[in-house]
Amino acid sequence: MGTLIDSGIKPYRHYGAYLKEKYAGQRVFKVIVDGNFTCPNRDGSKGYGGCAYCNVDSFTPDSARKLPTIREQVEEGINRARNSYAAEKFIIYFQPNTNTYAPAHLLKQMYDEALSIDTENVVGLSVGTRPDCIDFEKVALLESYTDRYDVDLEMGMESIYDETLNRINRGCSHGELEKALNLVQNSPLEISVHTIFGFPWETKEMMLRYADEINRFPQIKFTKLHHLHIVEGSIMGVQYKREPFHVFSLEEYTDFLCEFIPLLRPDIVIQRLFGLADQELLIAPIWGKGKSAIQSYIDKELERRGAIQGSKYQA
Ligand code: SF4
Repeated sequence: MGTLIDSGIKPYRHYGAYLKEKYAGQRVFKVIVDGNFTCPNRDGSKGYGGCAYCNVDSFTPDSARKLPTIREQVEEGINRARNSYAAEKFIIYFQPNTNTYAPAHLLKQMYDEALSIDTENVVGLSVGTRPDCIDFEKVALLESYTDRYDVDLEMGMESIYDETLNRINRGCSHGELEKALNLVQNSPLEISVHTIFGFPWETKEMMLRYADEINRFPQIKFTKLHHLHIVEGSIMGVQYKREPFHVFSLEEYTDFLCEFIPLLRPDIVIQRLFGLADQELLIAPIWGKGKSAIQSYIDKELERRGAIQGSKYQA
């Protein structure tokens, strides 16, 4: 007998299903664009070295980065998604680094350029950033696109504890996230927060409290959940090789998600349940499975254990 999951129903609000419903079953793909940004904890304005878990591959000095133009990236990304995945609609996703870390007039030029291509089929703009690189002017700029596009603003929360944020050289406090969330309180922007679970000094109880913190902001519509992975070229990669510390096994992370997801507000759409680094870069944890096998394992365990999103949420 098949399971609910076999029939496409998951025990949590899944982004794929959300997109399918929203765009009437059309195949929607995110096209990643690199706007050649950096981050304030890399360029010296708030620090150097970047976040301790982040791969320094992306730390290449700007002068040394030779990127195709935004137009070329969007055109190529759309063609690839169309040819390889029969994609029909597209969300332009400014993903690498901090995509609001520039004056608003320059951001406008970049976003305008990206959105000027295939206007019939581009339905959304998605911008990944840090809470300390959001201000009123940038919010207003992003909101100016919402009459034509779905616009989501993805902010790294990573941990709710300032001690952790300091230890990972984040250069940004949890209070700065709260401030940014307050700026978009009644905004038409769709807000997503990104979290990392598994910093070795955080206990399970500490991590479960992330759910309460996400739940208390009704403006948060999406979340991306990640387990900590240790990659080559990161500060934590060096620390781990010198002195290995505990990272989640797939079974442990799944156990954790089975407790976390029931605590999460039922209306929040989960864009991702885990992260997956390039195999060549990944130091730990090595789970020995591909993306769909991991997804399927977690989904089946959630269902088997009756871990339904929101079932333990208390308003
Ligand atoms: S994690 Fe994000 S904010 Fe931190 S250094 Fe990497 S790209 Fe920059």
